[in-house]
Amino acid sequence: MFDMRRSAFGGFRELEGKHAVVMGGAGFLGSHVCTWLVYSGAKVTCIDNLITGSSANVSHLLGDRKFRLIDYDVTDYLHVSGEVDYVMNFASPASPVDYLKWPIHTLKVGAFGTHKGLGLAYAKGATFFLASTSEVYGDPLVNPQPETYWGNVNPIGPRGVYDEAKRFAEALTLAYNREHEVDTRIVRIFNTYGPRMRPDDGRAVPAFFKAALENRPLPVFGDGSQTRSLCYVDDEVEGILRLLLSEETGPVNIGNPEEVTMLELAETVQDVVGNHPGVELHPRPTDDPMVRRPDTSKAELVLGWKAQITLREGLSRTLPWFKEVLGY
Ligand code: NAD
Repeated sequence: MFDMRRSAFGGFRELEGKHAVVMGGAGFLGSHVCTWLVYSGAKVTCIDNLITGSSANVSHLLGDRKFRLIDYDVTDYLHVSGEVDYVMNFASPASPVDYLKWPIHTLKVGAFGTHKGLGLAYAKGATFFLASTSEVYGDPLVNPQPETYWGNVNPIGPRGVYDEAKRFAEALTLAYNREHEVDTRIVRIFNTYGPRMRPDDGRAVPAFFKAALENRPLPVFGDGSQTRSLCYVDDEVEGILRLLLSEETGPVNIGNPEEVTMLELAETVQDVVGNHPGVELHPRPTDDPMVRRPDTSKAELVLGWKAQITLREGLSRTLPWFKEVLGY
């Protein structure tokens, strides 16, 4: 049986006794964040409409008095009783398969969901934390991408619903900071992987693990020369919580700068699984970025954070999860 607690390590004493509202907390990343918060001694109200998440992701927390899960759409009126220290917004379809299936919802949750979360933080005097994305850089013309790069996004392409929702969410977050002096944090998350990803969410890591375990050729888009930089979830969550506890208002990239081509990723997954069925090339989706790599100098400077887990190590830590969910 996969141990849900396995990926929770560390702990942040500063969080003890605090109350965090985590929007989208039953998703892949949000559930890891909830776990770290609870294990650090914080009280967590997780609000999630389970559109792409699942209560199974937080099942290990449900018996804990510090944790509660509320099945609710955060684009609706949002009220939480009592004191709140942090409002963290992870709510959004996040994989291309999901946001192409729910384009309007993706725009709504990025806009109205973020607005409701900011309203709650404002009313409670809480810190608002936005989970933004490296997709705000679009198909970037500079590599690696520093926070100062404004991006190269096609607003009307199919992926625009996600990229522009996050760009709007960042703008709204900083507007609340400037006009209402809400304390804000923005993390630009680069591709993150690890236990609790859905095998069918369409992202490369689950698709490659599934194919390799089934001994089928791994589905690679284009010629596989496009690059990604993948961060193991424990590294990502550590960076997220360091940012939460910092005083950095503007966006900070959190990701692993180890950049690999899709073909290299496919090769490494096959090595880790121990099956080598090869790859099968598929047409590249519209506006699929050619390169992606974080410049993490700001995170290193202001948070003292740097990814520690290599791609091969992170994939090895992820393998038991995919074996379990796929019944191997
Ligand atoms: P996920 O789909 O697993 O999690 C998103 C969660 O939000 C799900 O549990 C879903 O049910 C919930 N949600 C969506 N709409 C909602 C609504 N209206 N009301 C309440 N809950 C709602 O995706 P993830 O990979 O965990 O991503 C989490 C966040 O991190 C997203 O905001 C995403 O944009 C951001 N992000 C993730 C990555 C990554 O590599 N995983 C990269 C960049 C940014």
